[in-house]
Amino acid sequence: MFHGKTSFEEARQQMVERQLAQRGIVDERVLQAMREVPRHRFVPEDLWDMAYRDTPLPIGYDQTISQPYIVAYMTQMLHLSPDDRVLEVGTGSGYQAAILSRLAKQVYTIERVEGLAQCAEQVLQDLDYRNVLVRIGDGGYGWPEAAPFDAIIITAAAPEVPPPLIAQLAEDAPLVTPVGPAGYQELVRLHKRGDQTQLEHLVPVAFVPLVGEHGWREWDLTAE
Ligand code: SAM
Repeated sequence: MFHGKTSFEEARQQMVERQLAQRGIVDERVLQAMREVPRHRFVPEDLWDMAYRDTPLPIGYDQTISQPYIVAYMTQMLHLSPDDRVLEVGTGSGYQAAILSRLAKQVYTIERVEGLAQCAEQVLQDLDYRNVLVRIGDGGYGWPEAAPFDAIIITAAAPEVPPPLIAQLAEDAPLVTPVGPAGYQELVRLHKRGDQTQLEHLVPVAFVPLVGEHGWREWDLTAE
């Protein structure tokens, strides 16, 4: 059982050391952001004691907050600079957006489940992370008025990278996303170079599906 701020801080330092630094996360800015952001605030209060474990956790609406290592790994693959403007699709708890907000100038994040978006916005506001804008909607369409983005991260899995998101990448900017069917996907990184895209295959992952026009349709997911 954790009691008080210090215990959460200690658990967070251990998480960073054992789950991230010892497993190859080397970007010091990413490690520092993971040391700072109180992950327990992004999960339901009855799960606070588990917030720094090496695992995803349920956040309601059949959705999850990703494993800390995956958050750090995907963030590291974006190579963010302090002046960057980043788009996240799949706000969920708001934790990934909070990490991005420590590393970039402005974060735009889209969530299709209204209850999750509202909850995430409230926590981000309570923590005074002011450079995050939360929108409710189908993130497969991106956020065209704010494009182009210096980096895009999708934290739900589609059958392929949604074309509107590729169109909203700045030249040479990275997009990191899981691609594949529910339960088993590959994490990929794509760079837009002129009219071409360059794709790198990273690691196997298991994300919840991106649901919508450029993802899986709800009837695909419920079909026997
Ligand atoms: N990044 C999140 C965090 O830090 O807690 C975890 C994301 S969770 C694994 C995936 C999220 O993507 C879910 O909250 C889900 O509702 C959302 N999602 C699925 N399809 C979406 C879509 N088309 N547009 C926006 N969000 C979507």
